[in-house]
Amino acid sequence: MSCVPNVFVQRAYLKPMRLQTGGSILAGKLALERGWAINIGGGFHHCSSTKGGGFCPYADITLLIKFLVMYRSVQNVMIVDLDAHQGNGYERDFLGVPEVYIMDMYNKYIYPKDEKAKGAIRRKIELNNRVEDLEYMVKLRQNLKAALKEFKPDILVYNAGTDILDDDPLGHMHISDIGIIKRDEFVFEMCKTHKIPIVMLTSGGYLRKTARIIANSIVNLKNKNLIGNEPRNFAERTPETRE
Ligand SMILES: [Zn+2]
Repeated sequence: MSCVPNVFVQRAYLKPMRLQTGGSILAGKLALERGWAINIGGGFHHCSSTKGGGFCPYADITLLIKFLVMYRSVQNVMIVDLDAHQGNGYERDFLGVPEVYIMDMYNKYIYPKDEKAKGAIRRKIELNNRVEDLEYMVKLRQNLKAALKEFKPDILVYNAGTDILDDDPLGHMHISDIGIIKRDEFVFEMCKTHKIPIVMLTSGGYLRKTARIIANSIVNLKNKNLIGNEPRNFAERTPETRE
């Protein structure tokens, strides 16, 4: 075992993580005001309000939701977690909270296999190793459409991990580059159709090419007119006018 002085841990690891956590909270606020926001970072979904885990030292998803509930009068939140891993951190925080609807789609054979946290998932899609684009997209389409039929959120938190990519050393799934782009496009499209503000967090992804694919996906969202400069002004929606 080796020890690293705290100053290095803070500078190289914890401080950047704190900035990303602040970014998630800010993105939640902006998404509510403008219709969408993307934090190029965050999505620390293994961290709960009491315990870190799996490279996740701060519970940014729980914090951003609590911020919106406390300071922006948000009532109903949907989390759509498409990272390769189960989002057990925020799931533990929102166990028994009906106002937070969780849809989680993950590889069932990898970390964290947290059975207690699974109790918080309202729509659980457990995938096998090596799942490919076609099966993935069919399941995503069916389940997100069904989720939005049974729950009407004021905001959707999209945990968009890219560790589902082919060759990712931790995700063990076989989704292509274009599969990631189509996945993100579908989630944003659904939010636009249903007039739901969306906040996207980029979460896990452990390949060199990951950053390029995220960038290409965001450009695609822009080209498809799913994000842009025009504020959607969902902030004006009151509880009475929410669909
Ligand atoms: Zn992951």
